[in-house]
Amino acid sequence: MKMELHVFKGGVHPPQSKHTKDCATVLMGVPSKVVIPMVQHIGAPCQPVVKKGDPVKVGQLIGDTEAFVSAPIYSSVSGTVTSVESRIISGSSPIVCVEIAPDGRQEVFEGVKPPVVDSQEAFLKAVRASGLTGLGGAGFPTHIKLNPPKETKVDTLIINAAECEPYITSDNRECIENTPAIVEGIRQVMKWTEIPRAIIGVEDNKPEAIKKLSEAISAIPEIKVCSLKSRYPQGAEKMLIFALTGRQVPPGKLPADAACIVMNVGSVSFLANYLKTGMPLIKKRLTVDGSAVKNPKNVEVLIGTSIQEVIDFCGGFSTEPSKIIMGGPMMGVALPSLEIPIIKNNNAILALDEKKAAIPEESPCIRCGRCVKACPMNLLPFELDRLVKANDFESIGQYNITDCIECGSCVYACPAKRLIVQSIRLGKDHLRRTVKK
Ligand code: SF4
Ligand code: SF4
Repeated sequence: MKMELHVFKGGVHPPQSKHTKDCATVLMGVPSKVVIPMVQHIGAPCQPVVKKGDPVKVGQLIGDTEAFVSAPIYSSVSGTVTSVESRIISGSSPIVCVEIAPDGRQEVFEGVKPPVVDSQEAFLKAVRASGLTGLGGAGFPTHIKLNPPKETKVDTLIINAAECEPYITSDNRECIENTPAIVEGIRQVMKWTEIPRAIIGVEDNKPEAIKKLSEAISAIPEIKVCSLKSRYPQGAEKMLIFALTGRQVPPGKLPADAACIVMNVGSVSFLANYLKTGMPLIKKRLTVDGSAVKNPKNVEVLIGTSIQEVIDFCGGFSTEPSKIIMGGPMMGVALPSLEIPIIKNNNAILALDEKKAAIPEESPCIRCGRCVKACPMNLLPFELDRLVKANDFESIGQYNITDCIECGSCVYACPAKRLIVQSIRLGKDHLRRTVKK
């Protein structure tokens, strides 16, 4: 039976530039050192449970906390802890990091064993113990997502394999290379959370992924694969839920309020492997691409590896990079240094040359309305930009600024190249700070 798809309002069609879609994932070896931050998720930071000089093994716990919204952190290598100290990572406030000198032996910690899962409670405990946080980029602890308030009756598990950001192909490779694990992970989540159906949403520019997933679920009527029209930001949770179910997530609410839970395709695949082996989250698949990268590829990297070493593994730079981005070109974050480590929710590194990275100069808004048409959240981006630039922070709340998902569609559509998202981030930051006071 063909599913009826719903088309979300707005969105844009940036060039896809998925150059690495056919590049099978290559495993990167053990780096010269790993630096593992104690904040890799939305929520409370972990506290280190190791100290300088301690020997550690692969999969050994190195950070945890009793805070509800959090996820434990594990060593990705065997070796010796060389420091536990606060560092500035990517322009943030200082974060405690555990640095480990690998011994190259990659000895697995004795406590790495498949969890015993015989109830929903044990399943959720295992999900927390795995260290899993949303691997699509959000970094929300998965054990909380899978345990919504009892009054919200979830009936649909949505698997996000849309991957609508230009350049990024790591989820596409996950679908092609780890199809059985994806299906097994979905079955496990459905079984233990009692969600009766699952839909895997994949954009139609990934035909091989759609074919492999469709074949793998052909005998499982509760799981469907749905081919979505390629349109950015199709992979944003609210857009995906609407496209696949026709349900709207109310402003300020969560997918569970629309009876859905959304998981990234890499998250379910990881979960299946964790339940089988007990090896927690210690590595990440990334797309490394951009006009300044010599050999773009998809690569599986140990968490804590520096971006410099990942770039070196990809042959280094072909030309002087003007901008390094963590993530895609639409929503990614420009990085100040190559010494920043890979963490759980990283899915791409882009290095762009001067021409590709050039930011056109802003010119005055001509009130053309293209940003409004492009906005999937029904906002007035030009007005938010104007109010923030005029320091009129009193009024921005009335324009639902907190609904903005920072997708950048408005900026992409704007002929005056207004830096609308920057204004919106400033405005949200101001609201957060004033509400806290
Ligand atoms: S205002 Fe926000 S949600 Fe709307 S297009 Fe711009 S960045 Fe996206
Ligand atoms: S698209 Fe740009 S120029 Fe047009 S209304 Fe929006 S901000 Fe103004």
